[in-house]
Amino acid sequence: MSEQRKRLLETEQLTKHFDIGRGQVVHAVDNMTLHVDEREIVGLVGESGSGKSTFGKTILGLHDKTSGQVKLRGETTPQKYSPADFQRYARSMQMIFQDPYSSLNPRMTVGEIIGEGLRLHSDLKPSDVRERTGEWLRKVGLHPDHMSRYPHEFSGGQRQRIGVARALIMEPEFVVCDEPISALDVSVQAQVVNLLYELKDSMGLTLLFIAHDLSMVRYVSDRMAVMYLGSLVEVGPANEVFFNPKHPYTEVLVGSNPEPDPKSERERASTAISGEIPSPVNVPPGCRFADRCPKVMDNCRTETPQLIELREVEKREVACHLYD
Ligand code: SF4
Repeated sequence: MSEQRKRLLETEQLTKHFDIGRGQVVHAVDNMTLHVDEREIVGLVGESGSGKSTFGKTILGLHDKTSGQVKLRGETTPQKYSPADFQRYARSMQMIFQDPYSSLNPRMTVGEIIGEGLRLHSDLKPSDVRERTGEWLRKVGLHPDHMSRYPHEFSGGQRQRIGVARALIMEPEFVVCDEPISALDVSVQAQVVNLLYELKDSMGLTLLFIAHDLSMVRYVSDRMAVMYLGSLVEVGPANEVFFNPKHPYTEVLVGSNPEPDPKSERERASTAISGEIPSPVNVPPGCRFADRCPKVMDNCRTETPQLIELREVEKREVACHLYD
């Protein structure tokens, strides 16, 4: 039985450029239109430098928007956040950062770090903040006694649990997880992902899960969105995008995902993606993937493909002239 989910977050033609002087502009995010429904996990994948993190931070107002819109439950968020806007949206939208080593203030205790949001953005008494902080330490698999310790006393996986507690204690509706496991040992990555998954179920969270590990994204996400050089190239149900990719970039990205079996790994390595992602300062005309695409055609270098819903595959959007 398919559950009808309500739209929680949507971006419309969201664009973020950075002016770096001398007339040069970094096209970090261009015209991204994507939605995330209530209680849905959308995985956002792409090589490093594709603009994934900038997209997440622009949604949360950590970067001003250059153009386009972000809507939370249909209400448009400000183009540039004032301190009052941060106050207001901190209860609705939070971020779990990539690096558990640099994202926690080393001079604050764990209790101060986790409780800071509630102290700043709620009317709770200090004793209630402390109690809530203890509860959250338990929920993420730590102990309330850890409140008085400092971040350096914890392992990478434990620090990421502290980062998870800091974001989720606000009980946000929408969370951007920005590569939450990439700085961790492989042995603890699955623990942090499982923790997020459990909390998603128990709290009814809605997540944008940014990562470059496709198999992990397939595992946790309902839908997968693939980004290349600031633009979306494919969106669809996560399993189907992974096992039946339609865009040539998604095909090579899936093909470059390491295989556990040595023979398959040798075959995979021979088909791995070639070349470098172009500079976002000099975005090529036409299809941005043309210089690396094994299926490039003449019109690819002059006409920009639009993200369109495919007729032949249900719920799949692709930006590629092969499907015009
Ligand atoms: Fe390749 Fe052309 Fe499709 Fe771009 S539009 S991915 S260059 S076939």
